[in-house]
Amino acid sequence: MARNTIAHIDPSAIAHNLERVREYAPDSRVMAVVKADAYGHRIDLCLPALERADMLAVATIEEARAIRRLGNGLPVLLLEGVNDHGDLAVAADLGLELTVHHEHQLAALERFGRSPTKRLWLKVDTGMHRLGVPVEAAADMHRRLRAVPGVEQVNLVSHFACAEEPSHPLNALQIERFHRATKGLEGERCLANSAGLINLPEARFEWVRAGLVLYGISPLPGRPGPSLGLEPAMTLTAELMAVNRVAAGESIGYGARFTAEHDMTVGVASIGYGDGYPRSMADGAPVLVDGQVCGMCGRVSMDMITIDLAPCPAVQVGDEVVLWGRGLSIETVAEAAGTIPYELVCRITRRVRFRSRALVGSAGLRAVK
Ligand SMILES: *Cc1c(COP(=O)(O)O)cnc(C)c1O
Repeated sequence: MARNTIAHIDPSAIAHNLERVREYAPDSRVMAVVKADAYGHRIDLCLPALERADMLAVATIEEARAIRRLGNGLPVLLLEGVNDHGDLAVAADLGLELTVHHEHQLAALERFGRSPTKRLWLKVDTGMHRLGVPVEAAADMHRRLRAVPGVEQVNLVSHFACAEEPSHPLNALQIERFHRATKGLEGERCLANSAGLINLPEARFEWVRAGLVLYGISPLPGRPGPSLGLEPAMTLTAELMAVNRVAAGESIGYGARFTAEHDMTVGVASIGYGDGYPRSMADGAPVLVDGQVCGMCGRVSMDMITIDLAPCPAVQVGDEVVLWGRGLSIETVAEAAGTIPYELVCRITRRVRFRSRALVGSAGLRAVK
């Protein structure tokens, strides 16, 4: 039998989370960010739940191509734009909207002689200092982009560095600079990511860019998705391969990191760093067995983890173990691994099987469970 290590994807949860985004920003249109294979949830499984998004956004041409191959006709934005003639030709072919974040991208467009789409997005650097043209250059760049043949609309975007901390002074500064950069320019504005959407109401302009929250995960420390009305779209499960007794004083796993203080019942579950479960996971990291929160003990191996089954001694080989998702918030699990939930969902490997529930009714309706 195939190994039972499964990422269960719930498209109805994604449709629900999209509606939550609309409740947070009722006057904004929603750009659904589906880069990195829909944050590791698999784009093919997620797109049917996103048909009510106003547009999609990805990081690479390959990701955009996957969307078009699936027959999806929503507008698609390349968040980092393109740099050369060849990529501009592909963008034109696929009908992709482009971010323009640098003078060299504008120059490439001017040489290409026409815009791949009617709508372009000029990215301004308001303080993140990763991508974007300087605030002072925005008006001139905007004028030059408007002059590229085929362009009918140039929208304005920027990106927050600290939106998960609402009181961080950089937020107000970025918003002020964004106002300054866009003042008097035609075009719609887009600043907020997931954290900005929730924490910074004044940053919900004509558009919001929502990534993480669509998958039911919270970007805010100490406030897991369910507390924000979000539903986890991914539940990662494994199964118990063995249930063993370990005597007091014996150690468990590589490096003998964990030593049993008393006689223990230890479960061995079919997940490891070869599946994307981080090796950095600390002793005591939560896993769910038979509805009980148990603690991981000992180092994560490539194919297996070991679990202290004290809270549920009656479980048996073959029983399901939940690593994160419904019943166990990924935000807490990420903390135990010293990382953020974004990384956990993106690092699941090809060995894990994906299974999707049916999306019941039209997007936005809840599935019958
Ligand atoms: C990934 C990304 C987003 C989405 O961020 P979330 O925190 O997942 O909502 C928004 N904007 C840009 C430019 C991005 O690269």
